[in-house]
Amino acid sequence: MSAPAPSRVVIVGASAAGRSAAVALREGGHEGEVILLGEEPDPPYDRPQLSKEYLRGHAALDDVIRPLRLFPEHAIETRLGVRVRRVLPDEQAVELEGGERVGYDGLLLATGVRNRRLRVPGAELEGVLDLRDVAGSDRIRAAATRGRRAVVVGMGFIGCEVAAALRHLGAEVIAVEPLAVPLERGLGETVGRVVEGLHRDHGVDLRLGEGVSAFEGAGRVERVMTRDGAAIDCDLVVVGVGVEPAVETVAGTAVEVDDGILVDERCRTSVPGILAAGDVARHHHPVAGRHLRVEHWQNAVQQGKVAASTMLGGDAVHDEIPWFWSDQYDCNIQYAGFAEPWDRLVVRGSLEERRFTAFQLREGRVVAAVAINQGRDLRRTVPLIRAGAVVDPERLADPGVDLRSLLTQAPSGPPRA
Ligand SMILES: Cc1cc2nc3c(=O)[nH]c(=O)nc-3n(C[C@H](O)[C@H](O)[C@H](O)COP(=O)(O)OP(=O)(O)OC[C@H]3O[C@@H](n4cnc5c(N)ncnc54)[C@H](O)[C@@H]3O)c2cc1C
Repeated sequence: MSAPAPSRVVIVGASAAGRSAAVALREGGHEGEVILLGEEPDPPYDRPQLSKEYLRGHAALDDVIRPLRLFPEHAIETRLGVRVRRVLPDEQAVELEGGERVGYDGLLLATGVRNRRLRVPGAELEGVLDLRDVAGSDRIRAAATRGRRAVVVGMGFIGCEVAAALRHLGAEVIAVEPLAVPLERGLGETVGRVVEGLHRDHGVDLRLGEGVSAFEGAGRVERVMTRDGAAIDCDLVVVGVGVEPAVETVAGTAVEVDDGILVDERCRTSVPGILAAGDVARHHHPVAGRHLRVEHWQNAVQQGKVAASTMLGGDAVHDEIPWFWSDQYDCNIQYAGFAEPWDRLVVRGSLEERRFTAFQLREGRVVAAVAINQGRDLRRTVPLIRAGAVVDPERLADPGVDLRSLLTQAPSGPPRA
């Protein structure tokens, strides 16, 4: 028999995962209290817009911020601008900054990630910006007016989207990236070259294979120094060099942490009654057969739902194939899969026209795929990834072959390691 549903659920972190869990608790019939605690002053909103329409000035804040009225309807007590200092598992309470304690019967940690800082001289100068929240997006847009010179440090997804938005706003953009091509870590060199071409065609001055050694200026950033000794004059800098999970609330507790809060398929941590979901959680994925920490919106929303199910005594498991999208200029990029090493890349479509799906194969099985302006193919690839199916590379590459037919023909392989 499953444990009774907790009467008071406290959720720390009012973003995609926290919001999704709170709503799912109510929709699942939870009648006890739901208290959502969030450090940011804004109600939960869709962060992906911050580097896209909102940064380009095309979306109003109301389009980004989910309406607060959802919460009174669901009777969710939302306390914003409130930071949780630590979790006290023995007392079944969280302690807020300032000392107030809030007791819980069930606790969900949905504290997400924080931006990694670049540890170089001058990183604290005015005009050295990063992007994680509404205020950050507002600061970048205000600084990057037409004709300003912006340096983007790091051409991962955030850096690429910011570079595209800044070009849209009319700023000059110089991008500094230590790897050989943008997005190389996730997408590999072949697809990264396509993204490189996309940015160059839109006027981004890409400095690849180059790192930053310092920011200089009198109070405000005036130039970026590279490790090769180049000085790049600029009016602003946007740093996008990755994130780290926000796990400090469980420091010193028995909640196990290893690059994120470790949870099982049902979002349960090592401490009974405490769950974690979203970017902060490193979950055991039944299809991958290992722990993954996924930093995508869809994953956060789904895990929030699974956490709510677990709290209500349900048996939902989180086994979705990781998926995300990115918009840069006229290109929609979608990725699905497990970011595992691969030994063969099969391309279906045209790299030159930036309309293709590139399948990453290991030992004949599709482990991931990236599609540019080809979202339908990507959706049809997800079942192939889930099945661990061995596929015929020639048929995979043939745009005339319906990807769905490959699943029925493919002998499925042994389970993933
Ligand atoms: C600019 C940008 C663009 C993105 N674009 C995409 C995209 O195109 N596609 C995609 O799939 N994903 C994208 N993402 C990622 C996506 O937004 C995240 O995966 C998603 O927001 C994760 O939700 P979350 O609830 O787990 O954590 P977060 O959104 O990180 O939220 C965690 C919340 O917890 C709060 N918090 C942390 N610690 C405490 C504490 N101690 N007390 C109280 N509150 C606390 C934080 O302030 C924050 O509000 C983007 C992210 C950013 C920043």
